[in-house]
Amino acid sequence: MRYGGAGAQQRCHELTPVGDLNGRSLVERAHELRPAIVRDQCSRPKNCILRALPAADYKRLLDSLEEVVLDQHHVLNEPGGIITHAVFPESSLISLITALEDGSSVEVAVIGSRGFSGLPLALGSRTCPYGALVQIGGKALQMKAAAFTNEFHRGGSFQSVVLAYMRCRIFMVSQHAACNRIHELSKRLARLLLRIHDELRGGEIPMTHESISLLLGAARPDVAMHAAVLRSAGAIDYSRSRIKVVDRKKLESSACECYSLITREFQQVFGKSKQPPKTGHSAPR
Ligand SMILES: [Zn+2]
Repeated sequence: MRYGGAGAQQRCHELTPVGDLNGRSLVERAHELRPAIVRDQCSRPKNCILRALPAADYKRLLDSLEEVVLDQHHVLNEPGGIITHAVFPESSLISLITALEDGSSVEVAVIGSRGFSGLPLALGSRTCPYGALVQIGGKALQMKAAAFTNEFHRGGSFQSVVLAYMRCRIFMVSQHAACNRIHELSKRLARLLLRIHDELRGGEIPMTHESISLLLGAARPDVAMHAAVLRSAGAIDYSRSRIKVVDRKKLESSACECYSLITREFQQVFGKSKQPPKTGHSAPR
């Protein structure tokens, strides 16, 4: 892995403390500091990382942001590969996966509208130790790696938001390490479905048992068996390649504690969603 890109040589400007929120989320603080935050539907981002920025900072970033449509199964990064862009999903979902020599794999993180891929750029690395795969195709905003690095080293709100997200990501990955080792597959399955449902901002989950089993590092028949139990309980329903969350409360009661812990961490930093994720059928966004 290569460390120390050109951006890492630049002097970091004054850091805005990320922990001094006095109980407010970054989104709430952005509104307090900049009442004129972008309200135009055309320019208001659906990704919560970008939405947490004050209007002036987000407007400046627009020159560096490119709207793209990510195709399902597109490989953004091979493990150890060069990161060309930071990608901020809006309706798409990216999975970070660690793959082992025996061919097995397990989820490191799922990244949708509440995150971005390319976090190693903030640490001065141009490579990603994990594989990054588009699990669910859809819209995203992307920023070239050099632009991301330059913006991050300006300091200010963008750096603060990225560092705040880094805090959430570290907590999430740490929790997943314990979860993958300790918790039962049935509870991990419910936790993963809830996380994906949140990252997609509701609606159906266009994934198969096969792709879910790869994320969980479990055999497909075992995942199918536990999914059938969740369906019998009325928590989910599914067809060949789509999963529908029917009753979030039931699904939450079936998940391990990791879901609520990770959700609470994100809510402390970025605030609660204005609306609960939708259940049932919805048009693709
Ligand atoms: Zn767990």
